Parts: sequence; C-alpha cells; structure tokens
Amino acid sequence: MGLFSGYSGVKVIKEGLFGQKGWKPVWRDPAPKADYDVVIIGGGGHGLSTAYYLAKEHGITNVAVLEKGYIGGGNVGRNTTIVRANYMLPGNSEFYSHSLKLWEGMEQDLNYNTMMSQRGVMMLCHSDGQRDYFARRGNSMVNQGDDAELLTPEQVRAEAPMIDFDNVRFPIYGGLMHRRGGTARHDAVAWGYARGADTRGVDLIQNCEVTGIDIEGGVVRGVQTTRGAIRAKKVAIVVAGRSSQVAAMAGMRLPIESHVLQAFVSEGLKPIMPGVISFGMGHFYISQSDKGGLVFGGDLDFYSSYAARGNLPMKEHVMDAAMTLMPSIGKAKVLRSWGGIMDMSPDGSPIIDKTDTDGLFLNCGWCYGGFKAVPGSGFSYAHLIATGQHHKPAARYRLDRFRTGAGLMDEEGTGSQHNLH
Ligand SMILES: Cc1cc2nc3c(=O)[nH]c(=O)nc-3n(C[C@H](O)[C@H](O)[C@H](O)COP(=O)(O)OP(=O)(O)OC[C@H]3O[C@@H](n4cnc5c(N)ncnc54)[C@H](O)[C@@H]3O)c2cc1C
Repeated sequence: MGLFSGYSGVKVIKEGLFGQKGWKPVWRDPAPKADYDVVIIGGGGHGLSTAYYLAKEHGITNVAVLEKGYIGGGNVGRNTTIVRANYMLPGNSEFYSHSLKLWEGMEQDLNYNTMMSQRGVMMLCHSDGQRDYFARRGNSMVNQGDDAELLTPEQVRAEAPMIDFDNVRFPIYGGLMHRRGGTARHDAVAWGYARGADTRGVDLIQNCEVTGIDIEGGVVRGVQTTRGAIRAKKVAIVVAGRSSQVAAMAGMRLPIESHVLQAFVSEGLKPIMPGVISFGMGHFYISQSDKGGLVFGGDLDFYSSYAARGNLPMKEHVMDAAMTLMPSIGKAKVLRSWGGIMDMSPDGSPIIDKTDTDGLFLNCGWCYGGFKAVPGSGFSYAHLIATGQHHKPAARYRLDRFRTGAGLMDEEGTGSQHNLH
C-alpha cells in the first residue's frame, strides 16, 4: 500500500498494540443529494468501476451509486474469481483483451491490493474434435494479442499431476493454457473501486433501493428510491441478476433470464492446484484460494429464479464432475456453498448500450463471466455515458442484436437458450 493510503506496516503494528481502534472507514456514508449528473443503479463490481472511470477518465464526479444492499453483497462478492481473456469470437475477443490489460494495472491504478494472481487458466480437452477447436480458439487469442499455448497430455500432466489421467471415459487429449489468466480477490476488487470512486467525490449510497425510474417525454429525469426521489441527467442501470426487474421500471422488456449459479469452497489444504483448471466434459472449473480452500463450480441450476441459493441436484452434478476429474478431492470436506443470480442473455454475451429513453443506459447480460469484465465493463460503460459514443472494444454489445439477429456472439454455439451459455 502506498504512502498516502493510510496503510503501512507501522500502522498495523500500532493498531495491534492499541486495540484496533484507529482504523477509519474506507469510504464515506453520505446522504443522497437531490440532484446528480449521473445516477448509477447497482453497487456491484460493474457499477463501482463505472463510477470510478467516470470520475477518473472523464472528470464527472457529481455521481451517485445507489445500492439496495451493501457494497460487495451481490455477485461481485459471490463469484469464483476467475479472470481470463480466452474468447474466440470478434466482439468478445477485443473486449476481454482490453479488460485483462486493465486487470494487469489495477493494483497500481487503485493503489489497492486486489490479490490479482496470474497463475494461469488451463482448459482440458478430451477428444480430437475438442483439441481442434482449442487450436482454433488459441489462434484467435494470439491474433488478438493475448497468450495461448496448446499443451500435450504430457505437458498437462506436468502442470497438474493430481488429475485422473486413467479415466477411460474422459481421456485427457491435452489442454489450452492461458498463462495471463488467473484469479483475484473478488471483494477487494469491489472495495478498491469503491474507495477510488469515493475519494474522487462519488457518493456511494448503500441501503438505497431504486423502486422507479422517472421518464418525461422520452427523457430520463431521475429515480424513485427507498430514500426518496433523486433527480439525474443520466441514469445507468447495472444490476446484474435484477436487470429485467429494474429495466421494467422504464417500461423495457429485456432478452434476459435470471438463473442461479452455485459455488463451493473446501476446507483449507496445502497447495495442490497450480492455477485454474476447467474440465472439458461438462462444465466444471476449480482453483485454490490463497487460504488453501478449493474453489469450484459448474453449471447453472437450469431454471429461472431470484433465489440466491442453490439446489441439491446441481450440487450432486458438480461433485460428480469433481470426482471424475480428480478423485483425490473426495477426501476434502466442503465447507460452504452459495448461489448468485446471473443475468443470462440469449447468446451468452453482454449488453452495454443506450436505450430508447434519452439519458437512460443499460449494462447487463454478463452471464457467469462478469467478474473478469469488471474493469473493462466499467471503462466502456463510463465512456458511453460520458461521450454518448460506444467504446471501441465494447462496440458490438448492442441490445438490438437480439431484435435483428445481426451481430450475435454465441461463444458456446448453443443457440438462443439462456440457460445453456
Ligand atoms: C457462483 C458464481 C460464480 C461466478 N464465477 C465467475 C468467475 O469465476 N469469473 C467471472 O468472470 N465471473 C463469474 N461470475 C459472474 C460474476 O460474478 C457476475 O457476472 C458479475 O459479478 C456481475 O456484475 P456485478 O459485479 O456488477 O454484479 P452484482 O455484484 O450482483 O451487482 C449488482 C448490484 O445491483 C444491486 N441492485 C439490484 N437491484 C437494485 C435496485 N433496484 N436498486 C439498487 N440496487 C440494486 C444488487 O444489490 C447488487 O449489489 C460468477 C457468479 C456467481 C454467482
């Protein structure tokens, strides 16, 4: 931590000796003002990074972030923390490439330890066809300027000896390694952006639920909240799993379904996972946190829900996949699991766009890949809000692609079924 951040080794020792009473809140707790230039609905990773970049890149600081709960209580604090830029299709490729570059400079930029760890993301393949696809995907990544290595089974074994290589049903044909990918501490990312935005003058207003959006003659005028009406020249929706509900306040019907995704953490173990590994037969991914817990997850629960908790059939499915990939995991105890509400779009790719209402903006559809998008999404959304122009890396994230069918980015090749992306 830097000299002026209020953190230092001396401070830690002093507080340890004198009862930890001298720490100050990291951001203010202001009452909402009557009027703002920009109101951001949603204090998740994307809302906070949008506020930060509005202030830092565009000098717009008369901004409020309205959060119905507390900062970090949504998906930004519930995900499995995987960061990567290993997409194949134009649109996603350049966006995630830009986002990963922002991750690489984030700690210096925010002067905050977000524990960004580029420990590598390895996707396993289990057939010739899958290996061919990974070769193409790797080439796209390299063409985009990112890193990719196609690994042989022997190279995979050297990287991850704990994997079951003798499984006749799911043989390991190799892997696609993306060494600049990895993990970060999710809630520290929220706190870092929150502090950065607050110190630049943004009001972070917690326990403030938006209940209505005021529109007059096709122009947005402000919002109704549980803490009163707030006027605003521009309103930016960025509420992840609640996107359909909040957009409905402006009379919009979005092509979004909300689904539950679960995550699991084991008891702390000695280091056994080198980085992030994803199993190519079924949807299963695993890494190890710095505290030693194995962090893993799988598919959505497969039906729409606003319940931020999961169900037993998917737990069983995830445990099956874990045991198939690395049977030794059966000795570890699961300590806890939880769910988050995902805003699933029909092509599995997000939306950063204006709406038909003047001054009203929309950012949603991150599915279960939005943590790694936190810096890129905030940067591009702030650019759109401030300038009215689409930021180049996010220029294809248009809402009307679902109306016209042109420009869809179906990375998974699963068609327009929300729960399969
Ligand atoms: C189990 C799980 C694992 C995941 N793993 C990964 C991963 O490994 N890598 C990855 O890239 N992504 C992952 N994701 C996805 C990622 O977490 C999300 O895409 C991303 O966090 C969503 O954006 P956000 O941070 O802004 O959302 P959130 O943190 O959910 O922020 C939205 C905020 O809006 C607030 N809000 C909603 N309605 C209102 C209202 N009416 N008024 C005011 N505020 C409101 C909510 O309270 C919430 O705080 C995972 C998600 C889950 C649940």
